[in-house]
Amino acid sequence: MSELKVAVIGGGIAGLSAAYFLAKSGAEVEVFEQRYLLYGASGRNSGGLTVQFNDEELIKLALRSLDLYDELQSEVKFNFLLRKDGYLKIANKNDEAKLESEASLLKKFGVKIEILNQNEVKELVPDINTKAFDLAYYFSKGGTVFPWPVIWGLARGCKALGVKVYDYTPATVVVENGSVKGVQTLDGLHKADFVINAAGAWSNEVSKSAGVELDNKIFKENICVTESLRPYLDPYIFDVSNNAYLSQSMRGEIVGGVVGREIDQIDKKGELDPLIRYAKFATNLIPKLKGLSVLRQWVGVYDLGKNGKPVIGFTKVKGFVQLNGFGRHGMSLGLAAGEKVAEMVLKK
Ligand SMILES: Cc1cc2nc3c(=O)[nH]c(=O)nc-3n(C[C@H](O)[C@H](O)[C@H](O)COP(=O)(O)OP(=O)(O)OC[C@H]3O[C@@H](n4cnc5c(N)ncnc54)[C@H](O)[C@@H]3O)c2cc1C
Repeated sequence: MSELKVAVIGGGIAGLSAAYFLAKSGAEVEVFEQRYLLYGASGRNSGGLTVQFNDEELIKLALRSLDLYDELQSEVKFNFLLRKDGYLKIANKNDEAKLESEASLLKKFGVKIEILNQNEVKELVPDINTKAFDLAYYFSKGGTVFPWPVIWGLARGCKALGVKVYDYTPATVVVENGSVKGVQTLDGLHKADFVINAAGAWSNEVSKSAGVELDNKIFKENICVTESLRPYLDPYIFDVSNNAYLSQSMRGEIVGGVVGREIDQIDKKGELDPLIRYAKFATNLIPKLKGLSVLRQWVGVYDLGKNGKPVIGFTKVKGFVQLNGFGRHGMSLGLAAGEKVAEMVLKK
């Protein structure tokens, strides 16, 4: 049994995944969550899973994450409500180059993106208004996952491996002579050899407590669910040109929104404007959705690395590790990113 002690700040998908893989290899792990486990973006997202990225590193993480969803839900014995019913990117002609470049990069990884014509899209989504878009790029092995069971299942898997998961326990990093000493909570100091910053939209502050500058951008996104319809919408649909998306949950609700906007300060107040824009997008795309009642709207906040990519790796403070900045894609990338950080820490 290793003597390695690791503290993870943040009980979202990234932090719990890192904790799980570290504990699996024998490390002694503590996870600190400032509120409850679904408080962060991992409890407030639309669960879309894809590998359609324009970056090799992201593609590798996304492909590995898709496999990990299958492996982990049987390992932790928890149903993630995962549906691999496809991920459909639609766009107007102006965005053709972007989608083409993703598709050709994916070819290098042996991943096939199908370019569908309007009739083929209609077969996939019978009620779709084919005038609402020009292009459709389909990844048949993508899909959606219900975020809550992913987090509950990971937490359960962590606990089974002996990880201590503390909720309602905000933590800061304690550094002495250029090395981490552990994390400070209201209960006192928890000593650790490594501290992993998986604090999502709060990662800049956590990093600051370690004396390490991190300049992730923070975003706020409104999302809503409607009353339930019979299950009929298979793929997750993302409109690249309108920056909007929708899918149907296993409970029949239509879940969707418009992509978030950058903010200076974390703020979770619901807003009407994104909801109106989303309603226009959704009813134009699938006219049958007109008149459907929205039952719930909420806001999630997430962070994106300043160069548009996640921030994963060691810092100038010995033992202080970044695992944040996933933007709108942490559900697609987070499991494999957690596994990667666990491997890096274990090798050190
Ligand atoms: C509306 C919406 C829709 C989205 N849709 C998708 C999608 O379809 N597909 C996709 O892949 N991604 C999607 N995302 C993005 C995805 O949810 C995030 O990228 C991902 O959840 C980030 O996970 P994380 O673990 O890095 O951060 P989080 O899940 O935010 O977890 C960080 C945790 O750290 C805790 N914390 C912060 N500071 C401290 C502290 N000092 N001490 C202790 N704990 C602390 C927070 O409370 C939080 O729970 C969406 C996000 C939103 C908001």
